[in-house]
Amino acid sequence: MINSRNISDLHIKVQPLCEKFLDECKKSGIDILITSTYRDIEIQNALYAQGRTTPGHIVTNARGGQSFHQYHVAFDTVPVICGKPVWDDMQVWLSIGHIGKSCGLEWAGDWKSFPEKPHFQFTGGLSLRDFQAGKTLPE
Ligand SMILES: [Zn+2]
Repeated sequence: MINSRNISDLHIKVQPLCEKFLDECKKSGIDILITSTYRDIEIQNALYAQGRTTPGHIVTNARGGQSFHQYHVAFDTVPVICGKPVWDDMQVWLSIGHIGKSCGLEWAGDWKSFPEKPHFQFTGGLSLRDFQAGKTLPE
C-alpha cells in the first residue's frame, strides 16, 4: 500500500502549483504540512472502509480508483502554526483555500457535497471518468 507525502509523487504539472502554494502560505505566516499526495487503490480502499467496516470516523466518500489522489493530481494539507497542526480554525482554512485558488488549484473546501478543507487538486478540466479511462494532464 502506498500513501505518499512527497511532492515528487504529484504529476509534473501539479508539482509547481503545490510549491507555489507552500511559498505563498509561508509568506502569509502559515506553514503547511502535506499529509498525502499519491495514494494507491489499496490504501484508498482502506480509507474508505474507515468508519464503515473498520473503526474511526468516515474520512472519504471515494473508493479505490474514485479519488483524484490515485491520479497524482491531488494533495491533502494541514496548516501548522507555531509548530502545531491546526485542524479546527475555519479562518485559517479559508485563508489557505484562498491562497490555493490564487495559485490555480481547486480547493475542495468549496465543494457542496462532502467538502474537504485539507484537499487541493489540479485536474486541468479532466473529470474522474477521464482519469479512469486513462487520460492524464498534458505534459
Ligand atoms: Zn484529498
